[in-house]
Amino acid sequence: MTMKALVYTGTQEVEYRDENKPVAGPNQALIEVAATAICGSDMHAYHGLDERRVPPLILGHEVAGKLITGAPHLVGQQVVINPLITCGKCSPCLSGRANLCSDREIIGMRLEGAYAQYLVIDETNLLIPPAALEPWVACLTEPTATALHAVALVERVGYRPLSEQRCLIIGGGAIGLLTALILAAKGCCNIDLAETNALRRNTIEEQAVARVFDPSSEAVPNANGYDVVFDCVGAGVTRAMASEHVVAGGILSHVGLQNSHEGLDIRRITLQEITLLGNYCYTQADMQAALDMLAGDRLGDLKWVQLRPLSEGAQAFSDLHHGRAAAAKIVLQPDHLL
Ligand SMILES: [Zn+2]
Ligand SMILES: [Zn+2]
Repeated sequence: MTMKALVYTGTQEVEYRDENKPVAGPNQALIEVAATAICGSDMHAYHGLDERRVPPLILGHEVAGKLITGAPHLVGQQVVINPLITCGKCSPCLSGRANLCSDREIIGMRLEGAYAQYLVIDETNLLIPPAALEPWVACLTEPTATALHAVALVERVGYRPLSEQRCLIIGGGAIGLLTALILAAKGCCNIDLAETNALRRNTIEEQAVARVFDPSSEAVPNANGYDVVFDCVGAGVTRAMASEHVVAGGILSHVGLQNSHEGLDIRRITLQEITLLGNYCYTQADMQAALDMLAGDRLGDLKWVQLRPLSEGAQAFSDLHHGRAAAAKIVLQPDHLL
């Protein structure tokens, strides 16, 4: 049996073609994909910069769909997938921090991902959205959980309540925007967001939760610094910006993964007692909390999401690559569902 899939075949190449339909093993579910979003990490692979994602590979890990087989009590139900595969036995897994599992994997990296009509996943990796939640909204659970996890870590170490913190977000992709929306939903009213792409700046401005500026031509709005800086890009230049603008005793939350070196001012971090927080993915609790936020309409109108057919995925990747997409998130849907 074959299915249609969008396959990453080489640097800046994705191809819509026939692939073998996956077969569920024991304790696994076969999911018919209803909506799957393009993530910054998929773009990183497309650019040929992620040695963990080796072509040919079906990318994609932000996904909602319908359960076809497996988990008999859920057959026919809408599901959201937690794409992080963990062992359930190591010490981080047993202490509720499965995102730090010593054996973690994520679909769309070495395992086949979600840009397809079907995918297979462990039954333990399913969440159940409310029946009325549209799949294109439900598939945002994963990126929302990533941002929510970063915000939750900041909440845990913050010296003052989050609602009182002056926050700077660097990077206006989906994670940066979701971080702003989550902070606003939690009562934070002092949020600045740095983004160099004018199309993205406009999209984010329409959400009216942050002061948006272009860091390549404008100074940060708050010259006195920020209690919390989220680096949602993770490049040398953005780490340098974060190091410079976080206040003494503040928090630098490192979320993006663009490259690994340079930018941090470790001397300043030390002398000014700045807390540096790493972030990786989310726990199942973060996934559930993110799904609850989306289902409860806590994150605004979601007009920054654009729906496109899976068969036109190559165009979507190309538009994102060239900075031509105003949407902060593109969701691909199998053609028969559009
Ligand atoms: Zn993602
Ligand atoms: Zn584990």
